[in-house]
Amino acid sequence: MRFFENVAKQIFNDEGIPILEGHVAYSPEEAMSVCSEMDIPVVVKAQVLTGGRGKAGGVKFANNPGEALKVAEEILGMEIKGEKVKHLLIEEKADILNEFFVTVSVDRGARRPVILASKDGGVEIENLAKTNPEKIIKYYPNPLLEFLPYEAREIARKMEVPSELISPMGDIIWKLYNVFTKYDADTAEINPLVLTPKGLIAADAKMVVENDSLFRHQDLVDRLHYKKKAVDFVQLDGDIAVIGNGAGLTLTAMDMIKLNGGEPATFLDIGGGASEHIINQALNIVLNYDPVKVVFLNVLGGITKADDVARGVIKALEQADRKVHIVIRLTGTNEEEGQRLLEEAGIPFETSMEKAAKKAVELCEELKAEGK
Ligand code: GDP
Ligand code: MN
Repeated sequence: MRFFENVAKQIFNDEGIPILEGHVAYSPEEAMSVCSEMDIPVVVKAQVLTGGRGKAGGVKFANNPGEALKVAEEILGMEIKGEKVKHLLIEEKADILNEFFVTVSVDRGARRPVILASKDGGVEIENLAKTNPEKIIKYYPNPLLEFLPYEAREIARKMEVPSELISPMGDIIWKLYNVFTKYDADTAEINPLVLTPKGLIAADAKMVVENDSLFRHQDLVDRLHYKKKAVDFVQLDGDIAVIGNGAGLTLTAMDMIKLNGGEPATFLDIGGGASEHIINQALNIVLNYDPVKVVFLNVLGGITKADDVARGVIKALEQADRKVHIVIRLTGTNEEEGQRLLEEAGIPFETSMEKAAKKAVELCEELKAEGK
């Protein structure tokens, strides 16, 4: 069984192999939402059970959440070697100084595990094997004995990496071999293993586990499930971003916009009990979504506290590098404190949803009339 890159990376990381911060996304909207929480730029990667994604256009970069949405749209649904892309891995983009290659697999002919490594990693490794096979170091650890750290360093030395990399490279090779034996793998591969200013990092990960041994690795199978993000985001055709707490309230807010002749650009439900952080994340998403002219934030505090919402709004607007007009309706739990905070920050608000929706549509009309 082959694991997706995102799962393989988690497994490698558990053994101490460095990886980049990354999150999974199943839709362009989710890619955007994930990106809004990360350091940019990011790399958006198709998750399929085959290699060669880079060459097939399944690995792209994005400099902001809006771009992440666009490239995610391009990659999702794409076919790579006959496999449809259904999800993505969004990762912090590595600043690559050098690309290496390390793999542990089984040499069927020799009937033992083999480690292959090269200082010329990346997407051209198959060609390298044909044109310059001597550049690929081959090492057969004794499967009946422990694989020792000095053997791994010996491989690094033969790879002719700079001397200061011999120890960290050896460490990663040693850990990769341990992953391979621990999980009864057929293949555990890092290509490319990249050198960045932060050190060596696994920028790609491939792991194939022998099917007949999967029963011993229920923990691996459990990993195939992933945690959903807190924000529920749907992209629509209009220009007024609608954000609400709870699906019902958000839908009502959308209806109100429509009733007043406006067109929603998003359905974005921040859920019950939304924290300051989630409000900030939601606003980051819509502030970076190009079609949005006006944001309509409709919050009726229950478990969600109005003062937390106000703090999230203030923070997001302070950090936003694009000016977007926002209409806020804020009532409910802790409303006095929330409204006071907004007043202090000079951000206007409404307490009636009807009024606020009407205002948002009028504002949007004005902006369009001014050609903005
Ligand atoms: P594969 O083509 O399916 O093996 O996909 P990879 O994950 O190996 O990515 C292909 C290529 O994209 C790599 O060899 C890198 O050159 C490039 N790449 C992947 N991730 C990053 C990244 O974080 N930063 C940069 N600069 N390049 C990356
Ligand atoms: Mn690769």
